[in-house]
Amino acid sequence: MNNALLQFGTQDGGRSVALTFDDGPDPRWTPKVLALLAQHHAKATFCEIGPNAQRYPYLTKSIVAAGDRLCDHSVHHNERQSRMPLDYNIHEIADAQREISDAAGPSAKLWYYRAPGGDFKPAIRNIAAQHGLRPIGWSDDSDDWKRRGVPGILQNINRNLHPGSIILMHDGGGDRSQTVAALAKLLDQLDAQGYTYSFPAR
Ligand SMILES: [Zn+2]
Repeated sequence: MNNALLQFGTQDGGRSVALTFDDGPDPRWTPKVLALLAQHHAKATFCEIGPNAQRYPYLTKSIVAAGDRLCDHSVHHNERQSRMPLDYNIHEIADAQREISDAAGPSAKLWYYRAPGGDFKPAIRNIAAQHGLRPIGWSDDSDDWKRRGVPGILQNINRNLHPGSIILMHDGGGDRSQTVAALAKLLDQLDAQGYTYSFPAR
């Protein structure tokens, strides 16, 4: 297996999905997301921006304590990373990895790297793999950050929902009240449809 290939599937396969939350942690939204996940015995992956983790280490620690997984989402969230020099890309990945690891504590593991805006190129995937991080994409984009209402967010997710989906949502980067409200409905729906919760495959 090539660990530098972009991962779009779930670890457990079958009728599982992988929920992913980007751009946090954020003290307003991350605890709400974690509470909903816990109510449903659901697991998720959190793609954190390094300085946010540094600022709110207790949130990063509660993600780990809940059995959820951490993902590196860079330092500066530059969505044009692929146009930048290699040295810049290395720093974005490695510095955020250090910041998130410091926040999470010594026993916590960082599993993945997701490029801001999904702006991957082979060199960036290779850097991630060299740092022990599997590069991950998504298959179901909720577009929740556009804040066009809960029904729209659910519609976006359901358009592509299938066993093995990696669902992209956000627990940081702005007002995520719609995301939290949509997540409550999504979890009810997924439970009713017999989906289980997994992580992106490594
Ligand atoms: Zn992002």
